[in-house]
Amino acid sequence: MKRIAVLGSTGSIGTQTLEVIRSNAGELQATALAAGKNIDKMEEQIREFCPKIAGMWDEEAARELKTRVADLDVRVVSGMEGLLEIAEMPEADVVLTAVVGMIGIRPTIAAIKAGKDIALANKETLVTAGHIIIPLARERGVKILPVDSEHSAIFQSLNGEPRSRVEKILLTASGGPFRGRTREEMRGIRVEDALKHPNWAMGRKVTIDSSTMVNKGLEVMEAKWLFDVELDQIQVVVHPQSVVHSMVQYEDGAVIAQLGTPDMKLPIQYALFYPDRRYLGGKRLDFYELGNLTFEKPDPENFEGLALAYRAARAGGSMPTVFNAANERAVALFLDGKIGYLEIPELIRGAMDAHTVQEDPTVDQILEAEQSAYEWIASKTRQ
Ligand code: NDP
Repeated sequence: MKRIAVLGSTGSIGTQTLEVIRSNAGELQATALAAGKNIDKMEEQIREFCPKIAGMWDEEAARELKTRVADLDVRVVSGMEGLLEIAEMPEADVVLTAVVGMIGIRPTIAAIKAGKDIALANKETLVTAGHIIIPLARERGVKILPVDSEHSAIFQSLNGEPRSRVEKILLTASGGPFRGRTREEMRGIRVEDALKHPNWAMGRKVTIDSSTMVNKGLEVMEAKWLFDVELDQIQVVVHPQSVVHSMVQYEDGAVIAQLGTPDMKLPIQYALFYPDRRYLGGKRLDFYELGNLTFEKPDPENFEGLALAYRAARAGGSMPTVFNAANERAVALFLDGKIGYLEIPELIRGAMDAHTVQEDPTVDQILEAEQSAYEWIASKTRQ
């Protein structure tokens, strides 16, 4: 039995992870669940999966949850302390991190130090702290198993091949709902337009990030850390059908890809059973029906999010944190109707211009850079 601690269990990835666990009940078990403040969903999950510990970030939510599940044998914990306790708990073999944002850094480090394998969905963790996490995982001999569909595709395409022969990583991008539009044409975009992803159903923040191409930028940085390649070895390829989930090109010119229908349960399940493959129900690709698969160059001029991500990645140090934090805040403001769509990249650019890079930042310095980006955004958007 593989015992999984699911951080972010009530979210899009978290609930799909629990579906995978439910379908493999004899082999996988959810020993801990953690979320932000959605106690209704958490209570439902506790009653079904019977974890030993349940964590709520929000103290008040934790108090109420405790009362609601008083009839069950589950310990309710809260805040960062609770997340860390779950990350380190002896009764877990794998920690699946699917919280949203940089809150994932400390629990991931704690879990690695406790010798747990990490199934990683929370991309912000590697983007901001990859220089700490990857060497630590190597030193402790733990696996970082990608859950993001593109990274899982790359991971699968690397299977059994010598890493030293990799020439290039071809990271596919759907291009989002506004592909082909100019900046001017994107000026009046409303929240509900940006929340309509053409191929994937995901959490709200990552859906907006996909539409701005910031998500692809974060994935480029994530890929650099996960697969130990130079930035110039990662090429973003726009592929609107989202059938080819990503590819690896080798020194002999061979390109190996992983294809499939857009279903996050595949990468989640692959990470949880790696190196095994298990049965997964659902729609199969029908190549007769598929027709054309198309590929094109990204458009960093109109989708500045991607260009800014490359700039942040090249600057390195604390700059990816500022890129990420400024985006996180700008997206939240956009979702609240407080700023326009095009102000998202403008605010990211402004926060990056205002930042002086700190080389090789510690976790505290990463969190300080995050805070300073938040403060910069607040100073520019206060009404
Ligand atoms: P969601 O917004 O759907 O879910 C986020 C989860 O994190 C929820 O369970 C939420 O709890 C929890 N959470 C939020 N804040 C905290 C906190 N402070 N402490 C503990 N838990 C917290 O996000 P997604 O599932 O879409 O994404 C999660 C991560 O996975 C992101 O980093 C995203 O980029 C990445 N990812 C997502 C993909 C997808 O298909 N959705 C694909 C690839 C990567 P609550 O519900 O209580 O607020």
